[in-house]
Amino acid sequence: MNISITKTTNPKQKPDQNDLGFGQYFTDHMFIMDYTEGKGWHDPRIVPYAPLELDPSCMVLHYGQAIFEGLKAYKTSKGEILLFRPEKNMERVNSSNDRLVIPRIDVDFGVKAIKELVKVDVDWIPDAPGTSLYIRPFIIATDPYLGVRPSNTYKFIIILSPVGAYYKEGINPVKIYVESNYVRAVKGGLGYAKTVANYASSLKAQVEAKHSGYTQVLWLDGIEKKYIEEVGTMNVFFKIDGEIITPSLEGSILPGITRMSTIELLKKSGIPVTERRISIEELYAAHAAGKLDEAFGTGTAAVISPIGEFNWNENSITVNEGKIGPVASKVYETITGIQSGDMEDAFGWTQK
Ligand code: PMP
Repeated sequence: MNISITKTTNPKQKPDQNDLGFGQYFTDHMFIMDYTEGKGWHDPRIVPYAPLELDPSCMVLHYGQAIFEGLKAYKTSKGEILLFRPEKNMERVNSSNDRLVIPRIDVDFGVKAIKELVKVDVDWIPDAPGTSLYIRPFIIATDPYLGVRPSNTYKFIIILSPVGAYYKEGINPVKIYVESNYVRAVKGGLGYAKTVANYASSLKAQVEAKHSGYTQVLWLDGIEKKYIEEVGTMNVFFKIDGEIITPSLEGSILPGITRMSTIELLKKSGIPVTERRISIEELYAAHAAGKLDEAFGTGTAAVISPIGEFNWNENSITVNEGKIGPVASKVYETITGIQSGDMEDAFGWTQK
């Protein structure tokens, strides 16, 4: 399929590179492709960025049949533009699509659509250290219909947003509230899919944690509220008595691409990673025994976010004296080094 391109005649003023924040500014163009039952995905096009016109009855607004992705384009010091494992995001689109009964998208075509759009808006990619262009592909159900069933029409859209450096003043470990009341997902539910409902259900706990002075929540499993799942919008890793542990993917956790890359990277460096269930009691017992050396989150936004403190039922513990540990540092340096083009990509993760 050929992607048609209609360029804007009214380009926007670009924002100040030093004050980008996250997800506040949008580029001049967007990608759209439609799906119609019987016809498949059709009419891929890049058009000027503009509001969508949707029927008020359109299904996504009522039943949330929607999925999304998040990845970044990086400008290297040589001026090259790199994407980090975009095929993995498109594979996750299809895994989310299957769960939400949305038709699949060809992975190679999805990556091509991302690349074409980034090329059209290439001047929007910031180049100050740590900045990048956030890429947000998403799919919405568009049938104008109020009955509960899967839609017969969809739109696949990609928008772009220049974003600032996550760590402007050095890496700061975060304070995490262990959530024992609200749950994010259960096995058999939507947890492994990147779908809007998971984020809607996370808001209440996030607001309460913020209100109490915590950056994010640590989610426990939705049934026993015992096993650790993920932290905010990141996967989580621990170093206990020399062993690197991350919760196993059993259906309720989003399979993060940074998580996958962290495991591959550590394994290649001869540091094994165990994927298994780990309970919050085990974490606290390890801390009490002086064996909890590191805790950190992994995700596209920050790459690595070290955790300096947990609060579980009003019991606070501090990890590694609230500092970033050697394993988190190594993963951070390597992944950001590969993304910025400053380090050789020995894994073949990036695409120009
Ligand atoms: N868990 C959740 C709930 C997320 O939203 C994200 C961000 N996509 C992650 C984990 C980390 O995934 P990734 O490394 O692919 O960004």
